[in-house]
Amino acid sequence: MARYMDAKCRLCRREGEKLFLKGSKCYSDKCAIERRPYAPGMHGQGRRPGRASDYGLQLREKQKVKRIYGLQEKQFRKYFQDADRMQGVTGLNLLHLLESRLDNIVFRMGLASSRTEARQIVRHKHILVNGGVVNIPSARVQVGSRITLAKVAADHLRITASAEAAGQKGIAEWLDVDLQAKQGSFRELPARDQLDSSIREQLIVELYSK
Ligand code: SF4
Repeated sequence: MARYMDAKCRLCRREGEKLFLKGSKCYSDKCAIERRPYAPGMHGQGRRPGRASDYGLQLREKQKVKRIYGLQEKQFRKYFQDADRMQGVTGLNLLHLLESRLDNIVFRMGLASSRTEARQIVRHKHILVNGGVVNIPSARVQVGSRITLAKVAADHLRITASAEAAGQKGIAEWLDVDLQAKQGSFRELPARDQLDSSIREQLIVELYSK
């Protein structure tokens, strides 16, 4: 019988690298890309990684980042347009906008094992920003904002398990987080070297600037 291939893992295999979309599974030997390090689909194993054109590289980088943050094309392009209108370096602005999303902050704080899970927690009204419930995963969190859990979520088993795992992995330096209390604040925007070094945001800028 055909084995069901997890849709998210297929995205990693398509990009040829780990995008960490499945929480704890990504850090285990069950990670699909560790087991099958080739593109998905019937001819995936036969595909040779030929020399990609500049356009091909730019397109793949955009797809990769879009998938990491779980966005649709339209949403992603809107982030780029906003980043382009801001002062400063467009590529870094783009990363800052993506990192400032509420679902991402909840994930980076260690309250969820993946951005998908963080999105669910937010939608279920488990997250307070500066004391008020915010249930919109894309909400832009301002620097200095305080993130806490709603009372009903305080003993949520998945959140507790994520916080424990995050305690071992470590938390982003640009956030102040108390994992015991499961709360924290967005201290400052991350510097570029505090973000994923495998992302080549300049390729995305080049793609959208054509
Ligand atoms: Fe990607 Fe995680 Fe699936 Fe591995 S387990 S292929 S890192 S989503």
